[in-house]
Amino acid sequence: MTILWLVLFFAIGATIGSFINVVADRLPEDKSIISPPSHCSACGHQISAGENIPILSYLWLRGHCRSCGATIPQRLFWVELGTAILFAFLYWHYGLTWEFAMVAIYCCLFVALLLIDLEHSILPNKLVYPGMIIALVISGLGSIFGFEPVYIMGMGFRLWIVDAAIGGAIGLVLLLLPALLYRGGMGWGDVKLAVLIGLITGFPLVILAIFLAVLIGGLVAGVLLLLKIKSRKDAIPFGPFLAVAAMATIFWGNSFLNWLFPS
Ligand SMILES: [Zn+2]
Repeated sequence: MTILWLVLFFAIGATIGSFINVVADRLPEDKSIISPPSHCSACGHQISAGENIPILSYLWLRGHCRSCGATIPQRLFWVELGTAILFAFLYWHYGLTWEFAMVAIYCCLFVALLLIDLEHSILPNKLVYPGMIIALVISGLGSIFGFEPVYIMGMGFRLWIVDAAIGGAIGLVLLLLPALLYRGGMGWGDVKLAVLIGLITGFPLVILAIFLAVLIGGLVAGVLLLLKIKSRKDAIPFGPFLAVAAMATIFWGNSFLNWLFPS
């Protein structure tokens, strides 16, 4: 039965990944994400249902438009595969729980933000603000009904929504100064994303998430400079590192801090 669920969530994840691709393509250009239906960006050929099966269609068409032969961006395939694996992982990690549903929503947001920041160096408010509202509503409802997810650190004496608010405030404070000091690669979008992460993870995990983002960002930037893929003048967006660090913190932050500081 578990295997069946894993396969099912892999397939659901692939389909959602295909939708995230559409969002990442159209949202930065202010286009509708619903219409028109998917089409080849080179020749306008409308993608039929058979050509729109996540992961498989890309392999079947060998990455080319059936009509004009234009190359289909590899990103479409990798995002579908990555989101499929992510959803299978989420099921394996959380089981069929409320946490699974909540974390899945946040992961979709983070993956979309990561892609858009990588490709356009922006973190659209159209994604960040709704994310903040979702996080506040969920933590508010959880506070009312006495529910707290496993991924936040239960402080025992506070309501979840208070945790969320403190987390958001810390995210704001921690990123505000660097955003004001270092113009290149970090901006208001990153500050807002850090607030969103704080609202989701609460205190103290938000500190871990930002620390991890700086760590991963520094390592990756170092490697890119060493390999001369990027020069010192290039701005490397910080948002993707924040997104990855936030997901890792949601998955493992709690266990990690409990291991680091056993009570
Ligand atoms: Zn085409």
